[in-house]
Amino acid sequence: MFAIKRELKLNNFERSLMGGIAGFKRFVYNYGLDLITASWGFEDILFGDSKRIDAIKKIFTQVTMKKPEYKWMKKYPSTVYQSAFIDLKNAFNRWRKGLAEFPKKKSKKKGDSFTVYKTSGIYPSKGKPALPFTNRVVIDAGKSIKLPGLKTFRLKERIDFICSSQTFTISRTADRWFVSFVIDVQKIPPIYHPIEKVGVDLGVKCLATVSDGTCYAMPTTTKTAKTKLSKLQWRNRHKILGNKKLGIKASQKARKYYIKLARNYAKLSNIRRDTIQKMTTDLSRRAYCIRIEDLNVCGMIGNHKLARAVSDNCFYEVRRQLIYKQGHYGTKVEIVDRWFPSSKMCSVCGHIQAMKLSDRVFRCQKCDRTLDRDENASINLENAPDKLVRSA
Ligand SMILES: [Zn+2]
Repeated sequence: MFAIKRELKLNNFERSLMGGIAGFKRFVYNYGLDLITASWGFEDILFGDSKRIDAIKKIFTQVTMKKPEYKWMKKYPSTVYQSAFIDLKNAFNRWRKGLAEFPKKKSKKKGDSFTVYKTSGIYPSKGKPALPFTNRVVIDAGKSIKLPGLKTFRLKERIDFICSSQTFTISRTADRWFVSFVIDVQKIPPIYHPIEKVGVDLGVKCLATVSDGTCYAMPTTTKTAKTKLSKLQWRNRHKILGNKKLGIKASQKARKYYIKLARNYAKLSNIRRDTIQKMTTDLSRRAYCIRIEDLNVCGMIGNHKLARAVSDNCFYEVRRQLIYKQGHYGTKVEIVDRWFPSSKMCSVCGHIQAMKLSDRVFRCQKCDRTLDRDENASINLENAPDKLVRSA
């Protein structure tokens, strides 16, 4: 399984359509949540959550939706409310298992999302096999996508190949809308890798240093964006932000500030995510075997000076992305034991010497070679002995 996520390029009409559908989904979810909590007051109902939700769905479609004041619901795809009830079931399931808090009501503030899927139009008759792929949407390569039950939308970034999927989730972060869907990996042709093996040093100075000499840097815009964000928060430190429990309403300016803040946060995390996405994709396209260090991130976060750099450079995220891209790009990710002295060893003669964190250059005391610290480490990772390497 492999997920694709793209930003939608919407005009004002499409934007309000998406907002409307998301509002519909929110309405249905909260409606279901209200009714199920209310149903607990009746001790003679012995059904579990799932059956209760099914009964609520029946009330919704047969009574509520038929009321004239809810006529507007008819213009949205039925899969939206169907999936809202599925979401509710899952939320209750997770809560019962102790994996999540009690389901909360959806609010506009926290971002929106809804799901549409293709319902198979042709039902197989008795005794005949079901037609394959009748419930899948074929997605053409290019910069647009047809969503089931809705029209075709433009994308900001193209999809590289023909693929198919059944379920599409549309979500909003701040004021940007995204579509994501899962595709079958088997349908993607294998990719030829020009490089057999690389070592990758995930670093503080540079996001990633690769043993073939390339280096991926985190853009300096993150620094600017972060300064902007903290300035914004400081300047608005006295704003009355509203509190529902205490009955304090947020001021008009506070509301504007909320929007601005959310947009800034989203911008920052978008830059980071984009950079890491691009870097891991590029690397997975170029090299077959990718060796990375098994970082003791917990230990490093305890070290205060490194803490910010570590979380900024998102070690975990890089590793996670490289691993899940294995299936898609046919790569092999290998983890090098954390006790392997990749940054303390000379990549030329194997001499091991103490290195301070502040030492940016490795100067070998034995053979006098000088190399960039991260570059030296990445070469060592590439050549790490097999007994200290495990596959991810
Ligand atoms: Zn040496």
